[in-house]
Amino acid sequence: MIPYLIITQLELTQKPLYYWENNNKDGEYAKIRKELKEATSYQFDSSHLILTDIYGNPYSIIIFLNKDKTVFEINIWNFNGSISILTVKINVTGDYKEFKLSFEDYNKIMNKITKFYTDDIVPCNECGKDINWKTAAGRYFAGLFCEKCWESKWKAIEAKETYN
Ligand SMILES: [Zn+2]
Repeated sequence: MIPYLIITQLELTQKPLYYWENNNKDGEYAKIRKELKEATSYQFDSSHLILTDIYGNPYSIIIFLNKDKTVFEINIWNFNGSISILTVKINVTGDYKEFKLSFEDYNKIMNKITKFYTDDIVPCNECGKDINWKTAAGRYFAGLFCEKCWESKWKAIEAKETYN
């Protein structure tokens, strides 16, 4: 069993985003990863941060802060990381260490997760248009694409990928 740090949807708004930022060495996520690594000697190269929705369903989440410390990027996948559900960029206002997700941004994120859960809807990884992941035109790693983006660009990129 791979160890995870689970955060609830409420905690996502109650604590500063920096708390779980992927490269924040003082954050809770980094501390727990370090402890787990020592305890299990597990190699950490993917997300072990899990967000649960109102029903308790788990999703993989990674939060990054850009170099200028002006934008948080939040990426969410299904639990095993095989389907990309959303990527959002949120501009930081004030101190980045104290910056919290607004309820408006939080609602946008939760709406996308709910759409995925109830209707299998994910955004096209290129243009952002809503598509059903089960009938998507194509896939590149966890990213899924609409017909237009797949045919015009990603089909050729995927064809060259060796998945090594
Ligand atoms: Zn598209």
